[in-house]
Amino acid sequence: PSSFSHLDEIPLDPHYALKEEFAADPSSTKVILGSGIYRDGEGVPWILPTVQKIEKQIAAADESDRYDYLPIPGYAPFCNKAQIILFGYRKDESMPIISVQTIGGTGANFLGARFLAESLKPSAVWLSDPSWVNHENIWSSAGVKVKYYPYWDKENKSLDLENMLKTLDQEAKPGDVVVLHACAHNPTGVDPKRRQWKRIAELCLKRELFPFFDCAYQGFASGNLDNDSWAVTYFASKMELGAAQSFSKNMGLYGERVGALHFLVKSPKEEAKVKGHLLHLQRGQISQPPRRGAKIVAEILHDRAWFHWWLRDVRKMSFRMKDMREKLHKELVALGTPGDWGHILTQIGMFSYTGLSEEQVESMKKESHVYILKSGRMSIPGLNNSNVKYVAQAIDKAVR
Ligand code: PMP
Repeated sequence: PSSFSHLDEIPLDPHYALKEEFAADPSSTKVILGSGIYRDGEGVPWILPTVQKIEKQIAAADESDRYDYLPIPGYAPFCNKAQIILFGYRKDESMPIISVQTIGGTGANFLGARFLAESLKPSAVWLSDPSWVNHENIWSSAGVKVKYYPYWDKENKSLDLENMLKTLDQEAKPGDVVVLHACAHNPTGVDPKRRQWKRIAELCLKRELFPFFDCAYQGFASGNLDNDSWAVTYFASKMELGAAQSFSKNMGLYGERVGALHFLVKSPKEEAKVKGHLLHLQRGQISQPPRRGAKIVAEILHDRAWFHWWLRDVRKMSFRMKDMREKLHKELVALGTPGDWGHILTQIGMFSYTGLSEEQVESMKKESHVYILKSGRMSIPGLNNSNVKYVAQAIDKAVR
């Protein structure tokens, strides 16, 4: 008998299941708005022009160490600049930041979860309801009990801040971890306003909850890096925190797996200890992170001109997504589709939480071959001028 016959069956991750279903659909009008991947106006992957130019420069340099191992914490020029992108140039550096290169944002979340599991021994980690589907997987793999705080107000298609604060205040225990999406919340596209962030920070301080930010979309929410990391820098001025950072989306480097994990700590005494633990975990997990993606990001961030070209690319992506939101909204209004669709305009970043029910999502797929996640989450960059009208018609058909 096999050693594995006792295993239960785990269904394929919803994103990959949707992709497989889509690939098998013979329809010529089919559209997929599933995973968070940017597509250009023609519906194809967009390699950022700045990245393309840097790639050529790196290839021409033909460095002899290009396949050597990096050190365990990663490529230092990358880690330094990644930290500045997220935390800004800090006037007060009395609280040190430890930064480690990771396998994308996923690796940063996982390394962060493992470290916090062993160092804080939290009674639970608190995730937003709903959150990125992988958060629960990551934190439970790290052996931490997963609980959810209210986030999405279904009725008003907005942030349920009062219940979020109430639940954390009454039910979370000191030393618990609270995962917060730094910007462009996945899947709802709804972020707290600054005054609301201040209340969340106050509660974390009062109840001694440890904030862990997940920042996968910096630049995608507003088109401006500093606006999108405002919550992180605000919390950083008040307390210790952790942050997972991804360059998958804002540099379009999905497959290169470029990310970083940061911990802001009280003093240099903790800095050495936290660093030691992170490197020990990293060594056991991946030994050293990969070189190429980090090199590309570092080259761009270290040069003022390249950096500005990159910002232009980020703005271009962010503005195209806003434009698609407006076009989809306009089409729905023109069709007189039942319901209020204003949330498509007010939500930000890559996703819209449409409010479509599971049955409506299923009907869109069956009737119109338009694929979105069961939760009703739609990935906006999959829209373009050629399919936006068709998608609006599919929504219209499904809700009538
Ligand atoms: N966190 C969130 C909220 C995400 O949406 C994603 C990507 N979908 C990640 C982390 C992971 O990013 P990466 O692809 O860099 O691992």
